[in-house]
Amino acid sequence: MSKFRIKLTALFMLLIGLSVLAAGIFTGQFYKHNHLEALGSHMETQLHVLSAAAPWPEGESASAQSEYLQAQARRFKALADMRVTYIAPDGQVLGDSDHEPATMDNHAGREEVREALASGLGKSIRHSGTLNENMLYVAYAVRSEQSGQTVGIIRLAMSLSAVERNLDRMWMALALGLLAVFALAALVSYRVAHSITRPLERMTSAAKRMAAMDYTIRVPDAGRDEIGELGRALGAMAANLQDHMSEIRRNELHLQSVLDHMISGVVMIGPDGRIRVYNRSAELLLGSLARERVGRSYTEAKQQYELLQLIRAGFETGEPIHEELTVYYPEERLLELHLVPIPMDDDIAPGLLLVLQDVSAIRRLERMRSEFVANVSHELKTPVAAVKGFAETLLAGAVDDPETARSFLKIIHDESDRLNRLIGDILELSKIESRRSPLQFSPIDLKSFLERHLEFLGPEAAKKEIALELAVPEELFIEADEDRLGQIVLNLLQNGISYTPEGGRVKVQAAIVEPGEGEDSEERVRIAVSDTGIGIPKKDLPRIFERFYRVDKARSRSSGGTGLGLSIVKHLVELHHGAIRVESTVGTGSTFIIELPLIQD
Ligand code: ADP
Repeated sequence: MSKFRIKLTALFMLLIGLSVLAAGIFTGQFYKHNHLEALGSHMETQLHVLSAAAPWPEGESASAQSEYLQAQARRFKALADMRVTYIAPDGQVLGDSDHEPATMDNHAGREEVREALASGLGKSIRHSGTLNENMLYVAYAVRSEQSGQTVGIIRLAMSLSAVERNLDRMWMALALGLLAVFALAALVSYRVAHSITRPLERMTSAAKRMAAMDYTIRVPDAGRDEIGELGRALGAMAANLQDHMSEIRRNELHLQSVLDHMISGVVMIGPDGRIRVYNRSAELLLGSLARERVGRSYTEAKQQYELLQLIRAGFETGEPIHEELTVYYPEERLLELHLVPIPMDDDIAPGLLLVLQDVSAIRRLERMRSEFVANVSHELKTPVAAVKGFAETLLAGAVDDPETARSFLKIIHDESDRLNRLIGDILELSKIESRRSPLQFSPIDLKSFLERHLEFLGPEAAKKEIALELAVPEELFIEADEDRLGQIVLNLLQNGISYTPEGGRVKVQAAIVEPGEGEDSEERVRIAVSDTGIGIPKKDLPRIFERFYRVDKARSRSSGGTGLGLSIVKHLVELHHGAIRVESTVGTGSTFIIELPLIQD
């Protein structure tokens, strides 16, 4: 039970108790007063009757008067059971029903006697020492019929003990009645207090739950009065808050998923230096999890020393910072950092927002591109310089010597041929890299396909007395782009012939790699081109697929190579979703192995 209800009940009971008590006192007094009044007027009537029935013995001697009045008093007492006293105007008692008049003192001072002498009738309530009880006295002044003078006083006295007993009984009954009323009132006031406090209690508990962020509560309808109104207002407030909260939560979710799926790392730091936001990309770029970072100071990320310095500078200057920095944890990366101070909460000091981008790949590509341009220029410069030099020599007069002229023109022809090949290869490579012409896959019968290409290179091989061999099972079909696969095979075979001394051997083998044996579980075809040539030194093996990389520049030039062949092959193999690798021993020979999926998805 709530304190409020106890207080309210107590207040009601106090009010009811006081009213009941006041009502009781008033009723009791009223009853007592009425009772005495009625008794008084009854005694008054008796007095009238008495004075009429036994006229005052006017003019008689004192002793005769006393004797007569004494007798009357006794008689009346016997009749009416009331004490009767006859008193002379001077206060001397002449007759008394209960006592001997001679023994009684003068009654002139008695209140009722004085009143009767003054106004004809007197009343008084007093405690009688003789009887030891409260008595009601009524005195009546008897007047002479001739003179109108007061000739004596008749006084009636009656014990009030009966009246008092009655009154006591009445008080008792009244008290019991009032007690019952009080008990009933207590019950009623409890019910009333309950009906008042119940909705308030409900609202209090609803407000408490709201304070604990539970907005699902609804306050039951508490009627049409102000309390009901309050309940409805509270309910409306909860519903509103719930709407707002779910809106906020929705927005938060949107924001969270935007942050989580951003490629840039986003970190937000409060004015106190504590990290507030740390998205998934930031986790990847900076190598620590959000749950390890959020809520803690940025200075705890000790691995990122350079970044810490920049953040510190951001806090000190309050200026935006745009910089590239290298981080070495969790791996070496080049990061572009945008750092801006942002206002936060109600704090006067701003926080910091960091946006981080991994630009390692972009920078690497940029570097590769500029290196490629430098390489291309260099590669082009050599044949162009040769063509220019020999043409100038010819112009300077060498043209007159037919033999020299012929050999110079041959060189010019060969160099321009080489230039043409070089430009062709560069264009081819850029076409493949930019994926401008998509592959056209079709089933190819590998055996006949390889036979055709070996035949094509037959004369070239024959020139160097190199034997060409083929080991391919019948009915081996592969899904590939015929022209591109042709390019791959021709490049590898040409290299084999070029880098194999006279009398050597170049062999092509093809077979199916069973699923599980290769890199993954799909069926693949392995094509191996091996030669008995000069081989490739171990240190050069990882680099031979790079553009313009050649083990022996002079040798490659003399064989007409551009240094782009293997890089084109690697790209084409990858476009077929395949892989290429090389095994080689210097002086013994090399084997280029490509693995391609049997069927393209
Ligand atoms: P190139 O036009 O110079 O042949 P490639 O890209 O085809 O260019 O080959 C790159 C380099 O790899 C060659 O310069 C050569 O040094 C080496 N190489 C390629 N194939 C073989 C091979 N079969 N035997 C030995 N070395 C080879």
